[in-house]
Amino acid sequence: MNFDHILNNLHVKCSAEKDTGKIANYIPELKKVNANKFGIYLDTLSTEQVGIGDCNEKFSIQSISKVFTLTLALKIIGDKIWKRVGVEPSGDPFNSLVQLELEKGIPRNPFINSGALVIADLLVSKLKNPKEDTLNFIRKISNNQNIYSNESIAASEKKYGFKNAAHINLMKSFGNIKNSVDEVLDYYYQMCAIEMSCKELASSFQLFANGGVLPYNNEEILTPSYTKRINATMQLCGLYDEAGNFAFKVGLPGKSGVGGGIVAVCPHKYAIAIWSPKLNKKGNSVKALKVLEEFTTQTELSIF
Ligand code: GLN
Repeated sequence: MNFDHILNNLHVKCSAEKDTGKIANYIPELKKVNANKFGIYLDTLSTEQVGIGDCNEKFSIQSISKVFTLTLALKIIGDKIWKRVGVEPSGDPFNSLVQLELEKGIPRNPFINSGALVIADLLVSKLKNPKEDTLNFIRKISNNQNIYSNESIAASEKKYGFKNAAHINLMKSFGNIKNSVDEVLDYYYQMCAIEMSCKELASSFQLFANGGVLPYNNEEILTPSYTKRINATMQLCGLYDEAGNFAFKVGLPGKSGVGGGIVAVCPHKYAIAIWSPKLNKKGNSVKALKVLEEFTTQTELSIF
């Protein structure tokens, strides 16, 4: 299969198409990004790699970080985490408060904001230096020491993050947040503000394509069973209230972020990351969705 040819054609085609999306503007610092950035990176387990456009430029990974924090929580705490967060798709926007009160402060899944805040609370309880320990974990699975969080993006989100503050306070009132609201929010925002390139994301997500084993040194980070659970959660919840459409059109476990990135995994075959900052109304990158839909259609490499 000529991946290079397919992805280059898709990059040219999608660059020429009118993009009706809009950059996320509710985090002021995120508005500074150039809306026309567009990168693609494919990393196959058979060591073939294809990088196109702005694939080496770092961007704000935002909710893609929720996959890393879930992975770390599952690794160090195990199945006990599921007492405090569910695994069902929410069918609501990533920052919706509606279900949280009805369901007594137990978020539907770890990939909506409330769920990631619970995972953040669990990690704040367990880790000595939550931010550094998590960054080191991500550096390890990416085989790359050059991964940092952008403090001005984290601070900007903290200043305007009224809705996340509402989520965490509501959950605290139900007893589902054990640490101080401020400490957990700080850690959550620092994780959202991590910056990585498409290349770095595709390389770190190979772990989920490779049954939980790091391809670069064969170390098992997750059991096959936990890897299956993370992929299943990405499939059903990774794109929030657009997860059905994503399964329908793309057919891969994936995770998006409001920085404009989407990473998707084809178990036993590849991980692919795409970045284009303009988002649709559900908060997902318009161009990244288009590339993934066409890529799995042309290659027939999806899980279905
Ligand atoms: N930091 C963002 C928030 O909490 C992440 C949202 C996202 O990427 N979908 O709203």
